[in-house]
Amino acid sequence: MSTRLADDCFALPPGVDWTPVDDALGLLRDRLTCVCAAVDGPLEVGAVLAEPVLARRDNPPTDNAAVDGFAFAWENAAAEADLGLADGRAAAGHPFPGRLSPGEALRILTGAELPAGADTVVLEEDCTISAGRVRFPRPKRKGANRRAKGEDARVGGLALEEGTVLGPQHIARAAIVGVHRARMRERLRVGVLSTGDELITPGDDGPGIPDANWPMLEGFCGRQGYRPLHLGRAPDQVDAVRDALDRGAATADAILTTGGASAGDEDHVSRLLREEGQLHTWRIAVKPGRPLVLGLWRGVPVFGLPGNPVAAFVCALIFVRPALRVLAGAPWEDPQGFTVPAAFEKSKKPGRREFLRARLDGQGRAEIFRSEGSGLVGGLAWATGLVELPDGALTVRPGDKVRYLPYASFGL
Ligand code: AMP
Ligand code: MG
Repeated sequence: MSTRLADDCFALPPGVDWTPVDDALGLLRDRLTCVCAAVDGPLEVGAVLAEPVLARRDNPPTDNAAVDGFAFAWENAAAEADLGLADGRAAAGHPFPGRLSPGEALRILTGAELPAGADTVVLEEDCTISAGRVRFPRPKRKGANRRAKGEDARVGGLALEEGTVLGPQHIARAAIVGVHRARMRERLRVGVLSTGDELITPGDDGPGIPDANWPMLEGFCGRQGYRPLHLGRAPDQVDAVRDALDRGAATADAILTTGGASAGDEDHVSRLLREEGQLHTWRIAVKPGRPLVLGLWRGVPVFGLPGNPVAAFVCALIFVRPALRVLAGAPWEDPQGFTVPAAFEKSKKPGRREFLRARLDGQGRAEIFRSEGSGLVGGLAWATGLVELPDGALTVRPGDKVRYLPYASFGL
């Protein structure tokens, strides 16, 4: 069952003006819930599990050999073992039909089931073979070079948790325990709307600003496993923005808009949400970014991002990404950051968190883009991640430790 969000799910506590980043994230985390229905289907990369996956098979299904060598019973062998070779061999998919008698060893290949009467495998390189016998120093441990039945998974055991966003590694895990279908969330449908009279289609000539936000957010949604829906470009007219939001509410589970989110005359996204939906303008203490408008339009959550592509990108990574994950049925996730030395110098004032476009140099130090100007979209493409500077005042000198968040930690 898909669920609806409460009308006031984005409301800020009374009296809140500038919202620190962590508070904003905490509110999103607390208020949002999954809005996607569960359906049965074959496992797919990018889908979210709506139920845990339980193993239907043991892995390995039987004790088997981890190396090419000889299988034998450890307790029957002397420290300098000298065993008779049994006729035949065991290979993957071709188990040995008989049983080893004490004093016997069997040629065995990697992945082959251990024959009855054997519990240990000695590496082929450690053996000398002559006249139907095999000699080797006995491995120290009983069970050496044996993969034990069920050591990776047991029937009925938890193989994958509910809410897992499936990657190829998870699908391999499911496959090995005999599962190729499960209940998964329907893909989150994300409507993307660009607003602004100045916008033109990318690739068109003539005056205007090419719409960079649609391809950016479409690609972002695609990478997260969601279904992006193009709600077009709305001019700065209230009816056009309303129509686009209506189309979004009819077809999408969430809507991302860019531009028109401030409090100016032409800021129709915030105006419409205020007058005809539920609006909460979060003045988040973040650079680049503010303001972020959150609201509901006909019950569908709207994330109103700044028009500036750099600010829109950073807000999409920091705020929209974890929020959409929860709407899509996955658990909240903070990006995984790394502490690295700075290759730059900078002072910041207290009161807001800053995200700098950054990449690592050859020594693993974070360098930052030549300018913080948020109009410079070149910096987004130059960077391979963001440096996150804390809310308080700070002076960073080369060699100081800073937190680096690679784009990869946002699923990009
Ligand atoms: P706004 O938030 O609408 O005031 O826009 C802020 C700045 O971002 C303005 O310079 C806009 O021209 C620019 N901008 C808004 N939307 C886009 C877009 N989709 N692609 C590129 N630039 C944009
Ligand atoms: Mg605008």
